Amino acid sequence: MIEKTDAVYIHIPFCNYICSYCDFCKVFYNKEYVNRYLEVLDKEIKSKYKGECITSLYIGGGTPSSLSLCELEKLFSILKIFKLSKDCEITIEANPDSLSLDKIKLLKKYDINRVSLGVETINSKLQDVLERRTSKDSVISCINNLKEEGITNINVDLIYAIKGETIEDLKEDLTFLLSLDVPHISTYSLIIEDNTKLKIKGIKNIDKSIDRDMYDMISSILKNNNYIHYEISNFSKEGYQSKHNLKYWNNCEYYGFGVGASGYIDNIRYTNTRSITNYINGKTILDKEIVTIKDKMFYEVMLNLRTNKGIDKEIFKYKYKTNIDDIFNYKELVNSNILEEDNRYLRVCEDYFYVLDEIICKIMVK
Ligand code: SF4
Repeated sequence: MIEKTDAVYIHIPFCNYICSYCDFCKVFYNKEYVNRYLEVLDKEIKSKYKGECITSLYIGGGTPSSLSLCELEKLFSILKIFKLSKDCEITIEANPDSLSLDKIKLLKKYDINRVSLGVETINSKLQDVLERRTSKDSVISCINNLKEEGITNINVDLIYAIKGETIEDLKEDLTFLLSLDVPHISTYSLIIEDNTKLKIKGIKNIDKSIDRDMYDMISSILKNNNYIHYEISNFSKEGYQSKHNLKYWNNCEYYGFGVGASGYIDNIRYTNTRSITNYINGKTILDKEIVTIKDKMFYEVMLNLRTNKGIDKEIFKYKYKTNIDDIFNYKELVNSNILEEDNRYLRVCEDYFYVLDEIICKIMVK
């Protein structure tokens, strides 16, 4: 089975501040490190990229917008090596406070056509918990600037289920996000990860039943405002689904470059080192996992079921030369109305999105 790799993820680990919940691969912005980092990133890309046509390029972090204009220009010059399709989706993650008008103009100059903004919450009590400070005004002004410069494909991230958050608080955050009139909203229930400031402080996850109520409320409010709940945590207006994230959920192969990045090439899933010192010293890859056909089919099921479209049984058959029901035992879940099946697709009923992990555990290999 030969599939071409047409997606690229680039990790920029620098941040102007460190949030209390963050377990991403990140470091404080440091000018000297940025320069050395970009040099090594350039080398890594040149050593791995095999010249395929790329249809989605995603620059994540960290906070890529923490780089100065000059550094961003250097980054974008490095990325010129990629052969991009005409309709390539090029996304950059940004923080509204560090995405100045000059930087937006630079994004435009380098054909960046999608921006994902970390808004998370605009409630000051909750911002204290997250140790983030983004004012309503800076979000509004950043989005206005983006739209004025012609970048209208915008995502905003929302974090909910924060200690001390009420349903009313969440409603206010959602009302604010809706007022921004952006085509994509990603929502994340706060999980207290190990090695985060929140964990060290002994903060606990919010009660499960409140988390569930919040999830249901988000889904219902966003759907009432014409957003499609197209993936467990993601909502978009028609035609604005994230092409890049769909590559992951469709179990496609992709390059991952940069510290802490992971990739999936030629049936190998690899993870780069999370140590910026090791990365800068050229010790790039930390771990490799060979993906067998069995693993691949399991990833396919696990990832496809995250989306409202579900598993395309014809594509499954085309890729693996076998019917999905010859491999997986799932009919009982269909009979219990947990999964929906028609001639072409197998998907999770939306009411069960919230407990997807439990459902996946019940889909047994025959
Ligand atoms: S959450 Fe984002 S902005 Fe905050 S420290 Fe982590 S990567 Fe940086």
